[in-house]
Amino acid sequence: MSDTQSPDYRTLKLDGIYQQNTNGDLMLRLKLPGGLLSALQAEVICDLSDSYSTGILHLTCRGSLELHGLRGESLSPVFRRLQTVGLTTRGACGGAVRSIACAPSEGERYTRIQALVRRLHQHFSGNPHFEGLPKKFKIGIEDGYQGARHLAQDLAMVYLDREDGRDLCDVWVAGGLGAQPREGFLLAGRVPFERLLPLIEGVIKVYLHHAPPGKRLKHLLADIGEREFRALLARETRGSQPCPVIGPLDEVLDASTAPGAGGWIELPVFAGQLPSADLRQVAGLVRRLGDGFLAISPEQNLLISLAAELDPRPLKQALQAAGVPLDGSALNCRVCPGSHACPKGLVPTRDVARQLAKILGEQGRSLDWAVAGCPNSCSQPQLAHCGIIGVRKGSAAKEALFDLYRRDDDGFGKPLQRKLTLAELMQAIKALG
Ligand code: SF4
Repeated sequence: MSDTQSPDYRTLKLDGIYQQNTNGDLMLRLKLPGGLLSALQAEVICDLSDSYSTGILHLTCRGSLELHGLRGESLSPVFRRLQTVGLTTRGACGGAVRSIACAPSEGERYTRIQALVRRLHQHFSGNPHFEGLPKKFKIGIEDGYQGARHLAQDLAMVYLDREDGRDLCDVWVAGGLGAQPREGFLLAGRVPFERLLPLIEGVIKVYLHHAPPGKRLKHLLADIGEREFRALLARETRGSQPCPVIGPLDEVLDASTAPGAGGWIELPVFAGQLPSADLRQVAGLVRRLGDGFLAISPEQNLLISLAAELDPRPLKQALQAAGVPLDGSALNCRVCPGSHACPKGLVPTRDVARQLAKILGEQGRSLDWAVAGCPNSCSQPQLAHCGIIGVRKGSAAKEALFDLYRRDDDGFGKPLQRKLTLAELMQAIKALG
């Protein structure tokens, strides 16, 4: 695309671009492997945010980073600059394999998981064989079973352990949230890493060849059932060969040097709204005193990587001296952009989160919360202890309405009360204790 050509927004979706409104504002979503980025990449993103966007970055609960309010004419220079530091947006929106989500953990297990995340990111980003899918395809990798995130992905891997030199994981498929949530099912247990790529490719091919346009994998499963799905998958994977997940780069990133191998410093970011000035300040300190890496957590907070042999004290002191908040006392609440910045948004999610922060007592603050601006549930309200979903837009004639969810077991949260006004919602939340 030349700098003067009018963009084709339908095809630009695959390049990570959505239209935010009818005024020509655009959202650009970056695809970060497991939410990981270097300090240098972060500084470039800050430059772009200041020059072409709003100066505020939105961190997502799948470890992506969004720039809002871009204009069509700025896309070419933005893409060119992102490429200079190895960042891609390809497949971050539209019918493609989206960013590989992975909650950063630590130690040797995480080093192995990270290698898998990078391998899958490289394999599927911009791979024409896996673009043009009926709808999005979300992959997530979990370090063990905690929470229910593995139930909410199109394909999830749960790392188990290492046995006889082979890394093993369980593979779950066909989960999803949105207006019709469906918990994924266990497709295969204790799968060695080298068997994963052919298996994942097979699942995506079944999805590509058999799901109708606009439908997620969970809808195909609802139509054909698990047995038929397994038969189709057997056909797609017949004769496939194992494929290594560790490359030459991964071998030099051992447990002592890999990002996060020694843990993370978590910096709370309210509602995922991070001013580029704050990120630039942190990135500069991380480059000088840290191991040079940052990550975005599923709680939409910023994480600073600590390599195993790094003394974190000088970095922590510098962060404190710079006035960067280091404690985890902020309300743990995932928030999608809602009507503030998303064309589908029914309610102002950040305002709701601010009200929550005001009314919650100690017990309420110890829970995790999520607010979604519409039933698409991008902030994963069914995975939080307490979730809020906007279900009706407010107007002069009628108030906005919300559903309140509660999660009490290992599965998705269930609706507790439906169609509450904001005042009723806050009352119901106070009553939860
Ligand atoms: S949940 Fe709805 S309002 Fe929020 S980001 Fe997703 S589509 Fe937009």
